[in-house]
Amino acid sequence: MHEFLADGFSEQPWWWRDAAPVEQSTCDASGEADVVVVGSGYAGLSSALELARSGLKVTVIDAGKCGIGASTRNAGFLSGRAGVSKQINLQAIVGTEHANRIFAEADKAYDHLKALVSRENIQCNLDSVGRFVGAHTPAAYDKLSKKMDEYNNDGRSNFRMVSKREQRDYVASDY
Ligand SMILES: Cc1cc2nc3c(=O)[nH]c(=O)nc-3n(C[C@H](O)[C@H](O)[C@H](O)COP(=O)(O)OP(=O)(O)OC[C@H]3O[C@@H](n4cnc5c(N)ncnc54)[C@H](O)[C@@H]3O)c2cc1C
Repeated sequence: MHEFLADGFSEQPWWWRDAAPVEQSTCDASGEADVVVVGSGYAGLSSALELARSGLKVTVIDAGKCGIGASTRNAGFLSGRAGVSKQINLQAIVGTEHANRIFAEADKAYDHLKALVSRENIQCNLDSVGRFVGAHTPAAYDKLSKKMDEYNNDGRSNFRMVSKREQRDYVASDY
């Protein structure tokens, strides 16, 4: 293992220790299904769940273990419209009207996921704790400040700049 990696570094997501993707065959290949969903990530499983809840017989198939894709490897952040335009100025690219439609979709997806977790009582430690975005240089801090104004214009977001002095309260680091 490389010396610059932290002690206990794992090449696999930490959470696989408690919930590793499993070889799970619930599929009766000879049986019939109303719908066959290909892929057992968020997209496939949530589609299958909605279909099953509406009374259809659904089979999910996957080329690998159940949940082996991006859905069990990601960072676990749930973000709404701020995530959509994190690296880009969406309005500048597609125009304000189209960007607003995309943001509205992002809002709906955010609300949908929270409702789904609650409805299905999914034990995933979902916690709305806000979002801290770090700036690595003073110029990046200024850029974030402008971005914040853009976000707050939507009448829904409530971002504010965190001063260097306050930073430690959020991330326990001065860097
Ligand atoms: C490192 C990383 C960090 C991320 N962090 C975040 C985050 O913090 N927040 C966030 O919202 N998003 C994050 N994402 C994105 C998010 O994880 C993905 O958008 C999401 O998981 C995609 O879900 P999915 O169901 O479309 O795909 P996947 O979860 O990848 O599922 C696709 C499944 O389809 C199967 N499959 C593919 N082709 C076939 C085939 N031909 N036949 C049978 N099965 C097939 C695969 O084996 C896989 O199981 C991150 C992604 C990565 C990689």
